Amino acid sequence: MKLGTDTATLLSREPPLAGVLLTHLHLDHVSGMRDVPHGTPIYAGPGETHGSELPYLFTQGTIDRQLDGQDPIQELTFAPDPSGHFAGVVDLFGDGTVLAILVPGHTAGSLAYLVRTPKGPVLLTGDTCHTRWGWDHGVEPGSFSGNRPENAISLGNLRALVARHPAIDVRLGHQR
Ligand SMILES: [Zn+2]
Repeated sequence: MKLGTDTATLLSREPPLAGVLLTHLHLDHVSGMRDVPHGTPIYAGPGETHGSELPYLFTQGTIDRQLDGQDPIQELTFAPDPSGHFAGVVDLFGDGTVLAILVPGHTAGSLAYLVRTPKGPVLLTGDTCHTRWGWDHGVEPGSFSGNRPENAISLGNLRALVARHPAIDVRLGHQR
């Protein structure tokens, strides 16, 4: 592993944090939460705060410590995606700048986020796809996922989105 920039350093360079959007509650995706100021609103997908998949049994205590002192995680509520492309989509600010996309499979409430930035659209896949090889070949994270067939469908839906809109910059769960 290459050591990156820790959350505290990143936060010190930015305006105050208005909220945290989690992709899912695996340990390696919440390990910066200890640096997040208490009282910051935190959001995740439906059912994500009481996941019962096997990895949680071994890591729940550590995950809880990362979140110690934080406000309870708010689970986003999804209606079916009218386009039928995804299990659900929420326009978080009502202006199309940040869409939360329900992509179940890696965990039951896994989310991806499509963000319209000044530099163009960016897709944050979370661990629905965690490597560049997996993205290029349509292979989901294997035994790390709670429901591999469902994960494969969600990954296919994200890849289809990018095929329709090739300008999207794809950021994967564990790689650029
Ligand atoms: Zn994960």
